[in-house]
Amino acid sequence: MADEQPKKINITRWFPDTCNCALEYAWEADSNEDERIHTPHKVIDTCPHHDHLRADLHGHHAAIHEENSHKNIAIAHVLEHLPDEHKAVIAQDDKGNITHWFKYDPHWSFNEKRELEIAPPSYGRLHGVSCLLFVLLFFPAYS
Ligand SMILES: [Zn+2]
Repeated sequence: MADEQPKKINITRWFPDTCNCALEYAWEADSNEDERIHTPHKVIDTCPHHDHLRADLHGHHAAIHEENSHKNIAIAHVLEHLPDEHKAVIAQDDKGNITHWFKYDPHWSFNEKRELEIAPPSYGRLHGVSCLLFVLLFFPAYS
């Protein structure tokens, strides 16, 4: 039997923390959260960095999503590779999975070439440099 009911669609507005664009996504209201598909719906605001994508709804959404998850993944990796003195174990489960509390709040920004820069914690120049190299190696800048 075909479902004749039109599917209820929700619209969510997203303000990424990587730029000043504002985007809207559409998703089916009764979809499972894990399987939910976010479809680009509308561009509400465009920042100067993404102005060239103004006419390209899908390209605009994709560029911002990619930039934002690039930043999130890079920060997650920096946190994961922090030396022990910058984190404290707050929980450990039966399987040995450890939850950390980080004593370092990652400061990140984009440089004038719009490459992601993450400021390492201030624990000596050498370690700061190796931390930056790590980010550059595994998270090459956007072009
Ligand atoms: Zn933008």
